[in-house]
Amino acid sequence: MQINSGLPADFNPSSYDMIVVGAGYAGAVCARRLAETSGFRVAVLERRNHIGGNAYDYYDEAGVLVHQYGPHIYHTFNERVHSFLSRFTEWTDYQHKVLANVHGQLMPVPFNHKSLLLAFGEERGEQLFSKLVETFGRDVKVPILELRKKNDPDLAEIADYVYENVFLHYTMKQWGQTPDQIDPSVTARVPIFVGDDDRYFPQAPFQGMPEAGYTVLFENMLDHDLIDVYVDVDARDIFELDETTVKVCGKVYGGEVVYTGPLDELFNLDLGALPYRTLDMKFETLDMDQFQPVGTVNYTVSEDFTRITEFKNMTGQVVEGKTTIMKEYSHAYEPGSGQTPYYAILSSDNRKLYESYLERVSHITNFHTVGRLAEYRYYDMDAVTASALSLSDEIIACHA
Ligand code: FAD
Ligand code: UDP
Repeated sequence: MQINSGLPADFNPSSYDMIVVGAGYAGAVCARRLAETSGFRVAVLERRNHIGGNAYDYYDEAGVLVHQYGPHIYHTFNERVHSFLSRFTEWTDYQHKVLANVHGQLMPVPFNHKSLLLAFGEERGEQLFSKLVETFGRDVKVPILELRKKNDPDLAEIADYVYENVFLHYTMKQWGQTPDQIDPSVTARVPIFVGDDDRYFPQAPFQGMPEAGYTVLFENMLDHDLIDVYVDVDARDIFELDETTVKVCGKVYGGEVVYTGPLDELFNLDLGALPYRTLDMKFETLDMDQFQPVGTVNYTVSEDFTRITEFKNMTGQVVEGKTTIMKEYSHAYEPGSGQTPYYAILSSDNRKLYESYLERVSHITNFHTVGRLAEYRYYDMDAVTASALSLSDEIIACHA
């Protein structure tokens, strides 16, 4: 497929039925569906110099396939999402495993049966595990904040250990707040697992990595005669919004617009900036075959970084004598500084601010917002894909 850098001098928005802002999952899914289902001519505008959004991967100087914006592991319970994405890639059968480094001891996260034995010893560990099974049942997920509410000395012993050794310091590093202070859905992403499944996404029926990588998945998704992709283009340079219309290149645009960037940026943050956390990612290539036993090790009680990812352990790529690892350092996002807004900070105040921005585009009937940034949500790739499939259903229905 051809990817154009910048817009041509004769770029004519009205020659397109839809303009998509952002070439991540949200934008690419909508572009593909409208092109192939409604016969729309689609222009995809992306301000980075590549497609794929935060899932973008590339081969570094050592020839190792790395994820530029942090480790991305695909998993889903959603059959529709899985069959849609599977049109554009084969999957490896990689099953993501994470270990927590707790004072030098490596134990599975989500905290599970094996972690209990490692933390408390065989005898006490088994007793505590039986208590968890009696209370919650087997093979179930229990969020740490739920476990902490239980009024039972054994369960309190587990909860205190896990809170202190798995969640507290990691969450302080990642969010600058304690687990009790942040939205409960965030720590509930990594519940305690009352069972032996030691995968990071226990029970998810579809998991793996795209066989040739994420960027190739996106090339395949966007490879359609009716889709033109323009990178190095910031939509804000050619868009103007008023209460009911969107102008593109100075003229009211009558086609559909799918916007997947942050909403506050469209209005120069005039109601205030939507708060985010950003990450500094430090990549290092080491002269060794393997650095750590699994894809990701979380440093839950020590270090300034939250986790170390070793990409070869996730992709299965064989590169002899070299491996690339990456450490993540989290801090508050400063708007306008060139940093990437990675994680929306979920809170009722922030949601209200987001909704005030959303209200301002709600009367522009051909302007649609979708994606992790545009919906200000903590979405995984599959959830973004699901949201984009729903939005594209709506747009398709309007034009049927
Ligand atoms: P994005 O991928 O952010 O794409 C939006 C695109 O819009 C960007 O490329 C941006 O440059 C572009 N854009 C914004 N504004 C403009 C503009 N004005 N003009 C032009 N272009 C614009 N999910 C998982 O399922 N599994 C994981 O393991 C996982 N790991 C993650 C690790 C990290 C560190 C992070 C931050 C996220 C992770 N995710 C993971 C989530 C995943 O990255 C997102 O769900 C997904 O990438 C969101 O897709 P999107 O299209 O909504 O947004
Ligand atoms: N978390 C933690 N310790 C861990 C793993 C996760 O405290 O070992 C908490 C932390 O607050 C984190 C959240 O759970 O931000 C969600 O973790 P997840 O791995 O899903 O985050 P992501 O991969 O999206 O960064």
